[in-house]
Amino acid sequence: MSGPVITALETHDVRFPTSRELDGSDAMNPDPDYSAAYVVLRTTGTVDGHGFAFTIGRGNEVQTTAIRALAPYVVGRGLDDLGVLYKDMVNDSQLRWLGPEKGVMHMAISAVVNALWDLKAKLEGKPLWLLLGEMSPEEIVSLVDFRYLTDALTPDEALRILQEAEPGRAARIAALKVDGYPAYTTSPGWLGYDDDKLRRLCKEAIEAGFTQIKLKVGADLEDDRRRMRIAREVCGPGFRIAVDANQRWDVGSAIRWVNELREFDPYWVEEPTSPDDVLGHATIARALAPVKVATGEHVQNRMIFKQMLQAGSMSVVQLDAARVGGVNENIAILLLAAKFGVPVCPHAGGVGLCELVQHLAMFDYVAVSGTMRDRVIEYVDHLHEHFADPVVIVNGRYQAPLAPGFSAAMLPESIADHLYPDGPVWRDEVAGASVATVTELPGREGAA
Ligand SMILES: [Mg+2]
Repeated sequence: MSGPVITALETHDVRFPTSRELDGSDAMNPDPDYSAAYVVLRTTGTVDGHGFAFTIGRGNEVQTTAIRALAPYVVGRGLDDLGVLYKDMVNDSQLRWLGPEKGVMHMAISAVVNALWDLKAKLEGKPLWLLLGEMSPEEIVSLVDFRYLTDALTPDEALRILQEAEPGRAARIAALKVDGYPAYTTSPGWLGYDDDKLRRLCKEAIEAGFTQIKLKVGADLEDDRRRMRIAREVCGPGFRIAVDANQRWDVGSAIRWVNELREFDPYWVEEPTSPDDVLGHATIARALAPVKVATGEHVQNRMIFKQMLQAGSMSVVQLDAARVGGVNENIAILLLAAKFGVPVCPHAGGVGLCELVQHLAMFDYVAVSGTMRDRVIEYVDHLHEHFADPVVIVNGRYQAPLAPGFSAAMLPESIADHLYPDGPVWRDEVAGASVATVTELPGREGAA
């Protein structure tokens, strides 16, 4: 074993009271408190690895506990082979029962895997996108678990995809450092905003250089038609306006609802129905073409992505940096998307998801797909001030992060202030809540 050894795994239940301003409100999640089940890997060296699972409030303590269950896998180990370490965690014979490869335990693995990559990139002195983008095709293939994938993508095919992209790597790295990577913004479109705020934020998005925005839809059809009309008026014809239903509909209602919005030319419809419904998405995609179907932020693992690509369920892959099994499984998903020729437009927002996922999109551009065509990274403009290396957006584009690591580290004072339930931001509010209030919490509509 070379390099530092991990000596401790620390967790923190960090929550931001975003529901007070209706930031992040959509048709299924009207009152999210953006939260991080945050993990720090301490080492014998001078640098630490940081990672987190993103949740929207209640249950963040469950997520944090799941992360702690992985301590035996990392404490006492080094970073020699993150392909092996990732596969060891995923295949723990007892923890695997809690998934397999889905839900709280898998998101916990994601947080720890991402913290390991943050640590490794810091030790190598490179931003993660560049560390991955400079690995050999063979090294990259060795990071992926091909179990359950080989009917769609074999290691040899993955190797060929990566080898074909190799010649242009240096030019693309240089291009990223100059021009960054295109973004779109969801900030105008939260359901809780009034029409004047929508109009103003659409105008601001165009002035800021974005070439695509997204509106949340799915709560009330007449409201959606009015909001789409306003956005289309402000943005003009041809400007890309995506809509996002956050899993609100059944298959039939998704088709009917989006047909009612067609006159406003939606570019894609996102999460029209359950993220597990592979064939339902395929039916929706056929019925709504040429409107694209986008999904991925709640797609739980590479096997569902595989099936959706095989079935023609998605024309935009919206991988999330912190839901599937971290960097390793996201490399598998990037390779699958490249194999099927479907653009990746990553999900971001929440807290810290923009910071993480920019690295994966940039790695994809450098070493996997080799293109930015029809690709944009989601951008939401809140909570970045809590990060040590926050994203930088210039003229509607993510600037390539240059600091070593995965941009995952939250500021120590932000963690301390937002600890739940004892941090200063929460102390009074939580102390005032009675057991009776807790039992009155909303059910399906208000839950994540
Ligand atoms: Mg979404």
